[in-house]
Order: sequence, then structure tokens, then C-alpha cells
Amino acid sequence: ALSLSDVHHHFGRHPVVKGVNLSVEPGEVVCLLGPSGCGKTTLLRIAAGLEVLQEGRVGLEGETVAAPERRHVPPEKRSVGLAFQDSALFPHLSVLENVMFGLKPLPVPRRRACALERLEQLGMADYAETYPHMLSGGQQQRVALARALAPEPRLMLLDEPFSSLDARLRDRIRDDTLHVLKNVGAATLLVTHDPEEAMFMADRIALMRDGAIVQTGTPRELYCAPCDPFVVTFFGEVN
Ligand code: ATP
Repeated sequence: ALSLSDVHHHFGRHPVVKGVNLSVEPGEVVCLLGPSGCGKTTLLRIAAGLEVLQEGRVGLEGETVAAPERRHVPPEKRSVGLAFQDSALFPHLSVLENVMFGLKPLPVPRRRACALERLEQLGMADYAETYPHMLSGGQQQRVALARALAPEPRLMLLDEPFSSLDARLRDRIRDDTLHVLKNVGAATLLVTHDPEEAMFMADRIALMRDGAIVQTGTPRELYCAPCDPFVVTFFGEVN
């Protein structure tokens, strides 16, 4: 499980995250939803350890992984899978080798089988022997998802992971991704600015505005029992 307690963050004199409390349980998908610039990506980077924590606490499986001036466990030691909007694949490695990359401790045949299974689950097995530059943006995004999920991390952090997919493919890949996430049992924090995506993917939604969480709850709770006019306006865009 991931827990963020009273997290604050500023860039220069500009406060960007203002006292966020949020937890994500194993097997749960929490969508961090909010308009552009409200601090979603910054919060995700703090959870990953890519941003040094300024104030508050980050816990992973009950262990403190970040607390100001005391402790900073680096991203590679947090058992997190990351798939960001611009997650670059290694250009000199094949699709299969890219997905195998994070699976170091296993014997090669096991790594191959596991990587192929993930590619299969995301509809990319046919491209295993090709190279990233031969793929479309959406296909690269699917490979990046497979790579992030292959090591079965305790925590998955996804930042707009479906943004380069065309509408036709998006629903299927969302479905496939959800299936893998539930299979792996990862605690997942997914950033999106799209209320419809959050309604589809989330067990719970944390709606953010201007660095703070306005409401946390199931999609139904936010839709049917909004605590603030901002929630109503934001979900007004969903039909
Ligand atoms: P988007 O959906 O557009 O990606 P977001 O909700 O993810 O937005 P953040 O990327 O977390 O928002 O940015 C929050 C604020 O912090 C913005 O005003 C942004 O300009 C600022 N910011 C982000 N990173 C930095 C940085 N490294 N240095 C200075 N300011 C930054």
C-alpha cells in the first residue's frame, strides 16, 4: 500500500502541492483527477521518489520511504512501475528486450516467457522482435505499460498512460491494463485530466484542484454526492 501524509511541495516560492493525504491499497486503482497544472504529476513524482520530498511523509508497505531531511529511498529501490506520458523505450533494444529489461534476477527463458505474456496481454506480442522506432506512439505506449507491469511491482504509477492512443483502441487497452493491474495486485495511482477515463478505471477517484484534494471517493460517490460545486462542474463534462 502507498500512503501520502500531509505532503506539501513548492517550486521556488510557488506552492504546487498543499497538504495532500491519500492512500492506495494493494489491488486498488486510484485515479488522481484534475485540471491541467493542479499538481497531479508533481504528486506522482513525489510518490515515485523522483522529486525529493519537502514536507510530509511517503509510506510504502508500512515503511517510510520519504521524510524530509531523514530518509529518501530512491525510485529503483521502491518496487514501483512507472509509465509516464513520455516514457522513453530503449531505442537500441527490441520490444521484447525492452520489456525483459526490468526482470534481471530471473533466468533468461523465464524472463522471455514473462515479457511475452505481458506483451500478449497488451496486444503487442506480434511486435516482440521489432524496434521502438518502427512503432506508432500508441504502440510504444503499450510497450511502456508492458515494461512497467512485467516485474509485478507493488506500486504502479501511471501518468496519462493512454494519451497517445486513438479512441478506437483506447477502451480495449484500458480494459487490458485494468485486467493486468488486478492480476498483479498492484496498488495503482493513475493521473488523468479526463473524468470519463477516471470513471472507467478507478475504484476511487481523488479530485484535485490547485494543489489540494477536493474530494476522494468511488466514482459513484463523486458523481452522486459531490461535496463541492467544483466536483459538479468537473463531472458535468461526462455524459
Ligand atoms: P498537467 O495535467 O498539465 O500535466 P499537472 O496537474 O500534472 O498538470 P504539474 O505538472 O504537477 O500539474 O504542475 C503543477 C504546477 O507546478 C504547474 O504550475 C507547473 O508549471 C509547476 N511545475 C511543475 N514542475 C515544475 C518544475 N520542475 N519547476 C517549476 N515549476 C514546475
